[in-house]
Amino acid sequence: MSVLPITTAPKPGSIAASLRDVFGYSEFRLHQQEIIEHIVGGGDAFVLMPTGGGKSLCYQLPALHMAGTAIIVSPLISLMKDQVDALCANGVSAACLNSSLSPEDAATVLADMRAGSLDLLYVAPERLMMASFLRQLHKVPISLFAIDEAHCVSQWGHDFRPEYVRLGELREAFPGIPLIALTATADDQTREDVRLRLHLTHAPVFIAGFDRPNISYTVQDKQQAPQQLERFVRTQAGESGIVYCLSRKRVSEVAARLSSAGIKAAAYHAGFPQAERVRVQDAFQRDEVHVVVATVAFGMGIDKPDVRFVVHYDMPKNIEGYYQETGRAGRDGLPAVALLLYGLQDAVTARMLIERGNNPEQVRIELHKLQAMIGLAEATSCRRRVLLGYFGEELVEDCGNCDVCLDPPELYDASIEAQKALSAVYRVEQRFGAGHVVDVLRGADNEKVRRWVHNELALFGIGADLSRDEWMSIFRQLIHHGYLRQDIAEYSALKLTPAASGVLKGDVQVRLTRFKKRAPAPKASPKSLRRGRTAAFVGAVEDEGLYERLRDLRNQIAAEQRVPAYVVFADRSLMDMAARRPETPDEFLECHGVGKAKLKRYADAFLGEIGA
Ligand code: ADP
Ligand code: ZN
Repeated sequence: MSVLPITTAPKPGSIAASLRDVFGYSEFRLHQQEIIEHIVGGGDAFVLMPTGGGKSLCYQLPALHMAGTAIIVSPLISLMKDQVDALCANGVSAACLNSSLSPEDAATVLADMRAGSLDLLYVAPERLMMASFLRQLHKVPISLFAIDEAHCVSQWGHDFRPEYVRLGELREAFPGIPLIALTATADDQTREDVRLRLHLTHAPVFIAGFDRPNISYTVQDKQQAPQQLERFVRTQAGESGIVYCLSRKRVSEVAARLSSAGIKAAAYHAGFPQAERVRVQDAFQRDEVHVVVATVAFGMGIDKPDVRFVVHYDMPKNIEGYYQETGRAGRDGLPAVALLLYGLQDAVTARMLIERGNNPEQVRIELHKLQAMIGLAEATSCRRRVLLGYFGEELVEDCGNCDVCLDPPELYDASIEAQKALSAVYRVEQRFGAGHVVDVLRGADNEKVRRWVHNELALFGIGADLSRDEWMSIFRQLIHHGYLRQDIAEYSALKLTPAASGVLKGDVQVRLTRFKKRAPAPKASPKSLRRGRTAAFVGAVEDEGLYERLRDLRNQIAAEQRVPAYVVFADRSLMDMAARRPETPDEFLECHGVGKAKLKRYADAFLGEIGA
């Protein structure tokens, strides 16, 4: 039997004191305190919290208050590294063990663990479950096990990882040591499966609400999407953002276009070599790249708190995906924008992708989910209500921070337009897609029109008063309201539904939302925060000049230390400093995100800049 090493002693003092002294935060977020107390008390837990909700603190803080080393399982090397950097910057003794370390560095980490000098150790699941490593763990005091991104253990989840399956053995191998599973995944089936597989069915489940009030959800009619996107990105003035596209080809095109417009953009998708993906990810973390244009492959490794906008250039297939991707914006709690560009073709493309599947039951479920996503995109009432409603949560009042609340759509009597549109579909014998039908309505002189002699139809050109984009928006809504359907088997040809006859006869009034040309671009730059309602989330930036100077200083320090900027200080901390203008170290310690370690390290530089 080996002698147990001296353990890391539990920190005296309350968890509230550590929250302040180590992390520099003044209060807990929803459920954090309950969870932390439960774990420090020796309990297991299952934590379901949206991205950005503050899951990490739920195991990091207990790790400081319990004897032994906390073992944190995390699937991605980049995530581990960022968290360890951030912890070390706060003066916490943390390290990671994964395949990126040299054998010498790995040996040092193991020696530190055996010496009992590590409060937290991040490991990859395959390393953790190696017999030799488990044997070592049995010889050292362990405070707790935390399994981050726990949904990876379930085959129902969207990122199943075979390496995760064996984690189920932990509960029995280490009886009595708290085991905490954390995830942001929402659906019931995955949730229950994870609890079962990790042997956590007895453990309490902590669910934090899914609302992300700082994210402003916005949907715009897609109109010349490339220009529309470029205009939007320009309004964001160099802030960090992600643009999601459905295909790799689209990713490359959009990234190239933004780059040639002078925007610091990069492309990212699973087809790039690993080294290139890591490069883009690092450059984004360090603010060298402002906009990453990506497929959904980009995300899980992104722990960047100051992403100010997420654009969906194409509509996602379901609300779960939309929620997860938009959730990467504004993790620091500051205002952020989620912009969806939504056009007629989006629903068709999504349906085609789904219907390619060969499991009929799966196809049925996915089409149902797609319908809910379309419902969100077409919503004429508060979008946040629709979104949260999907996850079974109810808002007491409209949110005031979505495009529908901020700029309510104008509903108008579109019966005449609807009649024109439906008649045109009928006259072209229900054999053409919306693009051609709109050409006929607008009297376009093109080859296809002439070939089918549609220029001789009585209604040729009767819709010339409206733009192409306006007509597309009308057709989209007519489909959504069930007067038309798109026959995907027949190149998306438009077909009348039985409901259309009431409209054609003039018995039914059709009310549609009026098309918004050049909808105002939502903006989430902290610089734009000064007064608007969003300023309610934080103190307004009074002194923009100072804020900018502090940002420069922070960026310079981060570059010297080769860490992401937010590891030094988050934007929110800088805003707080600019607002409070601390003059003494004690006042500096009051600022958001300033704990004792950062006080010691940065007080001189920042107080100097503030006093300058
Ligand atoms: P996730 O749940 O996505 O893992 P994180 O743990 O990364 O979220 O936390 C998101 C952000 O919120 C981080 O920048 C973190 O430092 C911050 N945060 C967490 N808890 C608090 C708190 N109590 N007060 C202020 N900021 C917090
Ligand atoms: Zn709203």
